Amino acid sequence: MAWFRKPQYTALRATPPRDAIPEGLWFKCTECVNFIYRKDFERNLMVCPKCGAHFKMSAMERIGMLADEGTWEEFNAHIRPTDALKFCDSKPYEKRLKDAMSKDGANEAVRTGRCKLDGHTVLLSVMDFNFIGGSMGSVVGERVTRLMERACAERLPVISVATSGGARMQESILSLMQMAKTSAACAMLARERIPYISVLTDPTTAGVMASFASLGDVIVAEPGALIGFAGPRVIQQTINQILPRGFQRSDFVLAHGFVDIVVERKYLKATLARLVSFFWDEPKSTAKVVPLAL
Ligand SMILES: [Zn+2]
Repeated sequence: MAWFRKPQYTALRATPPRDAIPEGLWFKCTECVNFIYRKDFERNLMVCPKCGAHFKMSAMERIGMLADEGTWEEFNAHIRPTDALKFCDSKPYEKRLKDAMSKDGANEAVRTGRCKLDGHTVLLSVMDFNFIGGSMGSVVGERVTRLMERACAERLPVISVATSGGARMQESILSLMQMAKTSAACAMLARERIPYISVLTDPTTAGVMASFASLGDVIVAEPGALIGFAGPRVIQQTINQILPRGFQRSDFVLAHGFVDIVVERKYLKATLARLVSFFWDEPKSTAKVVPLAL
């Protein structure tokens, strides 16, 4: 029999990794790396309450935020994309469309319609980054153009909320020609003296930025949004120089005169209502007045 026994240690149970937190209950902010209770995050309009980072919203979430309750009426949802070129990259375009549609019921990267915004009747176009990177194909161009044509016919102001990675490559020239078409529609609004307010959210780039998103009478941006034509990595590689801090982010773009105002999401609806009432003498706004730092 041994005089001494070696004590038996039981291994300490490893603490569960942070990734083991149930999916969907918590949201991890990619900017400040804090965990936020998802309901608080959603209640805060997808803005991190700790660091103020603005995250992407789907088109329906955005419409829910901007339109007065029960006033949204969608137009041209029947215009559906087709695979005219029978295009195939890593997977056939037709399959890509089907996969994108099955995600949240959206059938294209933009929704257009009429709604009330703090009592003002406006025509609203909202892009959705979840649908193939918010890319502009022939249907996006067509829906936006038809909305602007309707604005001239009904004499209603237009608000566009853009988010896009650019043109829909799978539609080739059919996608690129939407830039000319939507720009012509913006020119028509200007001729008819219809106010057009463009809101740029993260990210608004390439073909959309080079057409209707940058042609607003007033251009509003959300804080921290990436705004530009080519992305910073492409530019850095092309010019072979280190880019300044915050390059192409909304504050940088504001300082260089490309946007008129950067507005936090919580003030966006009130700011848009104020802009509409400034340009358009239709019903007086009941919105909470927020000072504009123009
Ligand atoms: Zn954060």
